[in-house]
Amino acid sequence: MGWELMRTSECPCPCGNGRVYIDSYSDDWNRFEDRGPYIDCAKCSETYQIESFSFMAKSDGTMASTHYCVGKGYPKYAEQPNHELESADPFTRYLISQYSKETLTKVAEILLNSSTYNKIENKGYGASAREIVRKYKSRYNTQRLKIILESINDAISKYDTLSVIITTRKAEYEAYVANKKNASYRLHL
Ligand SMILES: [Zn+2]
Repeated sequence: MGWELMRTSECPCPCGNGRVYIDSYSDDWNRFEDRGPYIDCAKCSETYQIESFSFMAKSDGTMASTHYCVGKGYPKYAEQPNHELESADPFTRYLISQYSKETLTKVAEILLNSSTYNKIENKGYGASAREIVRKYKSRYNTQRLKIILESINDAISKYDTLSVIITTRKAEYEAYVANKKNASYRLHL
């Protein structure tokens, strides 16, 4: 048995002469899937493309989306190139964007004083240390603490410079998205 159309939600298109809709399907396994939104208006589908933004709707991790008709000529996001950031190791960038300098400093201490992953206590900063080791392993397929410690020390030494650049970039991107939403037509689906 395949997917079955359960419900269609719709709202008027930006010009008001057509509609925009989402089809919701489910199957025998109780799985749900939304298809769309689709623009059912010749004029608006020429002028607009749809962009959806997802966000966490509930604290249990349930996601929801808002949908916008964005003008087709709207400029793409152009990131300012930054040599210092681009030349840094990707894992260094990851650590700086995800952890505070204090956490990385404590984790470095823990790794320096642990012989293997299994010796690291699974609480407090030890939990962060384990998390970082697992992340490193999933990317580079090694959990040698010495190598990971080098990466963490690299992140600590570049922290102050790179965290400012990362934060600024994030703020610039958020401003870009906010402006784009303001200039677009929000669909009430
Ligand atoms: Zn229209």
